[in-house]
Amino acid sequence: MLLRHTTADVAERRALTVNPAKTCQPIGAMYAALGIHGCLPHSHGSQGCCSYHRSALTRHYKEPVMAATSSFTEGSSVFGGQSNLLQAINNIFTIYDPDIIAIHTTCLSETIGDDIPQIVAKSRDDGKIPKGKLVIHTNTPSYVGSHVTGFSNMVKSVVDYFARPCDNKAKTVNIIPGWVEPSDMREIKRLTGLMGIDSIVFPDTSDVLDTPQTGKHAFYPKGGVTQEELGRIGASQATISLGPTASEAAGKQLETKFHTALHNLELPIGIKASDLFINALRKEMGVAVPDEITEERGRLIDWIIDCEQYFHNKRVALFGDPDQLVALSQFLLELGMRPVYVVTGTPGKAFERRMANVLGDDVPEAKVRQGAGADMFLMHQWIKNESVDLLIGNTYGKYIARDDDIPFVRHGFPILDRVGHQYFPTVGYRGAMRLVEKILCALQDRQDRDSPEESFELTM
Ligand code: SF4
Repeated sequence: MLLRHTTADVAERRALTVNPAKTCQPIGAMYAALGIHGCLPHSHGSQGCCSYHRSALTRHYKEPVMAATSSFTEGSSVFGGQSNLLQAINNIFTIYDPDIIAIHTTCLSETIGDDIPQIVAKSRDDGKIPKGKLVIHTNTPSYVGSHVTGFSNMVKSVVDYFARPCDNKAKTVNIIPGWVEPSDMREIKRLTGLMGIDSIVFPDTSDVLDTPQTGKHAFYPKGGVTQEELGRIGASQATISLGPTASEAAGKQLETKFHTALHNLELPIGIKASDLFINALRKEMGVAVPDEITEERGRLIDWIIDCEQYFHNKRVALFGDPDQLVALSQFLLELGMRPVYVVTGTPGKAFERRMANVLGDDVPEAKVRQGAGADMFLMHQWIKNESVDLLIGNTYGKYIARDDDIPFVRHGFPILDRVGHQYFPTVGYRGAMRLVEKILCALQDRQDRDSPEESFELTM
């Protein structure tokens, strides 16, 4: 009963967020940077920020996440962080020898107003950046946006730093996968591979944050999009950006600078969104959809038909990142469920429009909120007024689930108290099957628990 003080009386709040459904920008920038091969993320701020960001990622991915920090002290807070960053760049290349340093800012360095490109230019002029090595940066002031904004900012910066003009377009497609698990990035590559398409997925944290145990530690794992691949994204025939909040900015940058055709899609979670993804690939690249993918889709539909009765009209509350929530809500409707409460702490009016498009007139009772006031406290209050059959969200939802005795499916970032999410995809048709299994098991476990003796069935 940790949340016993949550009341059912909803009061409009303007200046207070309680249990936010988001975390801070640099975490997203750090996650995106890890998806570049040989890249060491660098946090330009205090040690505490960097420790928090690293530990949040390490706890979720169950892998040791490496990053450096400018290690601000009182002096840097007053006089600026230039000398710390110059020293850091020199130390990092000397000791850790990355191919790339990806700098992101923090609240403190943004408030001071440190000019990162100027500091990096000075470092280069001073001969502190070895030949062939790169320092890139993005701005991530955490008093605006969220971890998803930070991810988006870093991916857009990757386009700015790496994409080069080209005389002729190549028969490749850029795929910006959004903030998804390493397993999802691997699944996206598997699907494009089955279709015989040459893709450049960036960022790509597969084989970085889901590495196999070999008995040897690799400071820079073998995964991640390479510099050579990033150098070719300007030549690609098209870009598919998955999840507008996380990926659209980078896709638009490629479109504006290099006239790369842009398909701005929702995350391919569920049947319709996966269909749109596969169809965009098929049409853009002029290929046929192989039987293997068609059969995966057929198995998913068969399974949903088999268990539709367990999903029908079940009320669901969900919270987390906008791209995940829009796609998940669409999939819940495909299952016959009702996403009635949907909140994200990531600000942006477009979220409410996207959700309205998905929900249409199917769930007139739905409540959708975004931004500072859209916190887990508000969602809990809605639940206290009229409960739900299922809660979907990150680990922090477990307190609401326990308090109101609601079946709970963990999905999104961060998941700190379970394992497996980094290994099993939820995108594509196979990913949707995993989601169906997780939702179904949560509902049926509850049905078993609550059944009186006379209706406790062996076969359900
Ligand atoms: S919110 Fe700002 S001060 Fe806090 S950890 Fe994030 S970057 Fe650092």
